[in-house]
Amino acid sequence: MTPTPDSPATFRAPTRFGDFGGVFAPETLMAPLQELERAWLELRADASFTDELEGLLEHYAGRPTPLTHVRRFSERIGVEVWLKREDLLHTGAHKLNNTLGQCLLAQRMGKRRILAETGAGQHGVATATACALLGLECTVYMGAVDAARQRPNLLRMELLGARVHIVEHGQRTLKDAINEALRAWVGEPETTHYVLGSVLGPHPFPSMVADFQEVIGREARAQVLERRGALPDVAVACVGGGSNAIGLFRAFVPDASVALVGVEAGGEGPATGKHAARFAGGTPGVLHGCYTWLLQDADGQIEDTHSVSAGLDYPAVGPEHAALRARGRARYEWADDDDALRGFEALAELEGILAALESSHALGWVLRECESLAGQCVLINLSGRGDKDLDTIAALRAERGR
Ligand SMILES: *Cc1c(COP(=O)(O)O)cnc(C)c1O
Repeated sequence: MTPTPDSPATFRAPTRFGDFGGVFAPETLMAPLQELERAWLELRADASFTDELEGLLEHYAGRPTPLTHVRRFSERIGVEVWLKREDLLHTGAHKLNNTLGQCLLAQRMGKRRILAETGAGQHGVATATACALLGLECTVYMGAVDAARQRPNLLRMELLGARVHIVEHGQRTLKDAINEALRAWVGEPETTHYVLGSVLGPHPFPSMVADFQEVIGREARAQVLERRGALPDVAVACVGGGSNAIGLFRAFVPDASVALVGVEAGGEGPATGKHAARFAGGTPGVLHGCYTWLLQDADGQIEDTHSVSAGLDYPAVGPEHAALRARGRARYEWADDDDALRGFEALAELEGILAALESSHALGWVLRECESLAGQCVLINLSGRGDKDLDTIAALRAERGR
């Protein structure tokens, strides 16, 4: 599928990243998207907003997050590895950077009702958390299949005061939850704001979410310069929709000496068809309002994805990644379920850190590539902590006789 023109003249900021992105949305969503863009552009330039957000990030969420030089892991693989510790942010992942930003924005726009989608439940929990803090009403759309396999996060959202709306159609997973949340937003855009969880969807979401996640790379770049006196050779992050990776990459894009590597979920291996490696097995097309790389069949039907990690199990990748790849500034690799398990185990045993399975894909890729990376300095974004994944990890280990 090729992109058809949207009406960028009605938006103020660029709606595309190179050929990718855009606004492929129904007419009824154009006005709310334009209103959102206007509010975001105004408030990002308003010191009372940015000061309030920075205050929440520091005193509530725990920023700046540390930068850790993992010495034993580094010695074991012959690569100098540093971790940006988003696992230590409140609620255990980078997602709160975005939900605090968007919920504060909604509050300033006078919208008291928040809608969000969730797959594994991490974005739902981060949204429900921000809503509890700011006194906003929260409804989270979650596929029935996901709700059944992510019960602890369902309970967390309810304890935080959110209403969880179970989605019973389609594959009953994340893609269907996004469809339902978008539909609900179209229904009452005056009173509600839709908090999208990654650098996806129609403009302004990919740009706005990246804006709220940029703090990761801004801090990491300053921290690594202060601690080691030089930039890393490579910056690596796992890529689901791509928000933690864009959050890390943006600060380093102007540094030509720093290679940027995004790691997608290889599942059981791209050759098996059971994976979520959009750049390895996909083609460009439109999903959920933007033109980007997708897993789709020859008729444009979205394909089922597979990954051991729920947070990477999505058929599309953020358009800014598609553009970074097209102009050769970033490259995209994959790590399969086994690589991720090995990355998880190594960090746990050598450093005392239980990484999220998503982040373990970045660790697993570095581990697999340690010969080609020998002697280099690699900065990895540890996007989240692994407590949520312990049952999955135990099952994987049992299957492999460990
Ligand atoms: C949701 C999630 C991801 C994937 O989302 P991105 O938008 O690609 O960052 C990665 N890591 C963790 C810990 C997550 O919760």
